[in-house]
Amino acid sequence: MTPESVGRAVARDRRPDPTPSGEARRYVNQWVEPEALGTERVRAFVLILRTRGCYWADVKGCSMCGYSKDTLGRSATPEELAEQLARALARYRDEPYVKVYTSGSFLDDREVAPASRAAIVSAFSGRARRLLFETLPEFVRPELVTPLREAFAGELEVALGLESTDPTVLSRFVNKGSPPSEYLAAARRLSDLGTRSKAYLLLKPPYLTESEAVSDVVRSVREAAPHFDALSVNPVHIQNGTVVEWLYHRGRYRPPWLWSLVDVLREGSTVRAGSRLVSFPTAGGLPRGPHNCGNCDTRVLAAIEEASLSQEFSRLDDLDCACREEWRTALAYAPLGVEA
Ligand code: SF4
Repeated sequence: MTPESVGRAVARDRRPDPTPSGEARRYVNQWVEPEALGTERVRAFVLILRTRGCYWADVKGCSMCGYSKDTLGRSATPEELAEQLARALARYRDEPYVKVYTSGSFLDDREVAPASRAAIVSAFSGRARRLLFETLPEFVRPELVTPLREAFAGELEVALGLESTDPTVLSRFVNKGSPPSEYLAAARRLSDLGTRSKAYLLLKPPYLTESEAVSDVVRSVREAAPHFDALSVNPVHIQNGTVVEWLYHRGRYRPPWLWSLVDVLREGSTVRAGSRLVSFPTAGGLPRGPHNCGNCDTRVLAAIEEASLSQEFSRLDDLDCACREEWRTALAYAPLGVEA
């Protein structure tokens, strides 16, 4: 089976059936996490809304993305979204940073209708100081962004899943539908609209070796930094129903080492220009997430979080563990990204 046909097969299999309306009235998840606004440590309120999800996931989908499992298989009605929002607001404690995700694009009308978008943003206006949402670059248009800027009395931050500035990595290995140039152009439009921008960069897409993956992100940090206010490195974790999982089950993919992430942050911090550089790995230390040997994972993850919050990357220089040698071997001898 070729990678493309694997991609199409998993895209077809993971699409949920249209869900009964009861499910559509409940958001997917909500939690509070540590964050920073400049030098100030704050708490961030994270909300995952249940929508129809990403249109690109239906066409082909990205090789590491299994977010379709959290979607409805149809558009949520405005009433259903209003009820999800009301349930979330009942748990909101005026955290200054709010992040709203939809398992797709907040600015895609098929996922969140314009009136619902304005209602969601307005609900946090005057309470949160910054509100983030994620979208694909084709939806970053003045007529979609400006009403939200006007509805929110604080900073809007728009996150784009750039993943890599290498066109081949992005189109062939990540399977994104737009080239890096479209993400950079969208960041420029956001800047023109007075809106903050954040790029997600993917550490270790499939088909890259461990060392190629490190180089890919460091180069992406250098090339994206002039365009984005913040860069967030997301090490791959293996989600259900993805090409990455297909490879993982066949012994052809190992999630990135935390040592690789440490290297990316240390090197990236020297080429990030004025951008903020952070990483808050999902499933860190678990077999399906970025991990080391098991003995040092907690300590290394804590150091990565602290560096991300403080922007003091020199603290990562002191980390060490016996497994670092094994990682160096993986860097040198894992031509297919297979565990050494
Ligand atoms: S990573 Fe983003 S663009 Fe790709 S399928 Fe998932 S939600 Fe869509």
